[in-house]
Amino acid sequence: MKLSRRNFLKVAGATSSAALVAPALARGAESHEEHIGAIVGADESSVLVDTTLCVGCRACEAACSEKNQLPAPPVGDKVLDKKRETGPTALTVVNRFDVDETGKELQQQPEGDATKRAQRFAKTQCMHCVAPGCASACPNRALDKKPNGPVTYDASRCMGCRYCMVACPFGVPKYEYEALAPRVVKCTFCADRQAQGLKPACTSVCPTGALTFGRRADMVAEARKRVYGNPDKYVQHIYGEHEAGGTNWLYISDVPFEKLAMKADVIDKPYPDLVKGALGVPPFVMTLWPPLLMGFYVFSNRRAANNAKHDAAHGDSEGHHE
Ligand code: SF4
Ligand code: SF4
Ligand code: SF4
Repeated sequence: MKLSRRNFLKVAGATSSAALVAPALARGAESHEEHIGAIVGADESSVLVDTTLCVGCRACEAACSEKNQLPAPPVGDKVLDKKRETGPTALTVVNRFDVDETGKELQQQPEGDATKRAQRFAKTQCMHCVAPGCASACPNRALDKKPNGPVTYDASRCMGCRYCMVACPFGVPKYEYEALAPRVVKCTFCADRQAQGLKPACTSVCPTGALTFGRRADMVAEARKRVYGNPDKYVQHIYGEHEAGGTNWLYISDVPFEKLAMKADVIDKPYPDLVKGALGVPPFVMTLWPPLLMGFYVFSNRRAANNAKHDAAHGDSEGHHE
C-alpha cells in the first residue's frame, strides 16, 4: 500500500499517536494540510456512511418510516431500478448506481464493452450541517440547530415561506404541497431518540456496518483512517468533512461521489455566511417591512387629511374671489 506524504498527514491528524508527530511534520506543511487537524463540530453526533459496505437492503428506509410513522417503503425487485428522492412520505431513500470498475456510469460504456460491471448503493437524507443554511434562513426559527448535532423542525413556528428550501445546498427540505396544513419535511436525525441515549433508527438496523454512529471527531478520524490508509480502495476524499462548512453525515466511497449523485458543486464555506448576504433579506422583510408599511399608511392618511384641509381652504378662498 502506497502512503503519500499528504495522506500520511491526513491519517496522522486522525490518530492519537500521531498527535505527537503531526505538529512537527505539519510545521512545514501546506495550509490545507494544516487545516486537516481542525475538526468543526467535533462533539456533535455524526454518522459515517461507508458506501463500499452498503448492500442496498433498504432496512434503514423501513426503520425510518416505522420510527416516523410514515407509510412503509415500496417493496419489490424493481424499486431500485429508478432513482427516488426523499419527500413527505420518505425521509431517507437508498438508490442504486450501476458503475464500471473505474466508477464510470454504465450508460457511458460503449456497446459490447466487457468491462467489469458493479453496483453501488447510497442512502440519502438531510446532511445535518454543522452550520446549516436552512436554519440560518428561517425567519421564525422553525428550523433549529441543536448543540449536539441534529437540525430539527417545529411545524408550529413555520410560516411556509420556504426560504429553507432555497438555502439548503443539498436540496433536502421538501414541502407538503398536497396537505391541508403543509409542513416542511426532512430527516430529524432522530433527535428524540438521541435525547434518550439511543442511536438513530436507521443506523441501529444496518446489517453490514455501512452506517456508524458516533461523535463527529471520531467519525472523521475513522473515515480518514479508512480512506487515506487505503488509497488503492477509496476515493481520497471524505464527503461532508468540509462541504458546506462540514456536515454530520459523512460519506466515503470507492467510486467518484458524482457517480452516487452527490452534489459536486457544494463549496466548503458554511452556507449561513452566504445566506447572510442573499437571504439576509427575509429578516429585514419580516421585521422592518410591517412598521414601514404602517409608517406609509400613517403618512398617506396625514397627507390625505392635509390635502383635504388645503382643498377646503383653497376652495373657500377661490369661492371668495368669485
Ligand atoms: S442539509 Fe440542508 S436541510 Fe439539512 S441541515 Fe443542511 S442546510 Fe439544513
Ligand atoms: S436519522 Fe432518523 S429520521 Fe433520519 S433517516 Fe435515520 S431514521 Fe430517518
Ligand atoms: S441498512 Fe445499511 S446496508 Fe442496508 S441499505 Fe441501509 S445503509 Fe445500506
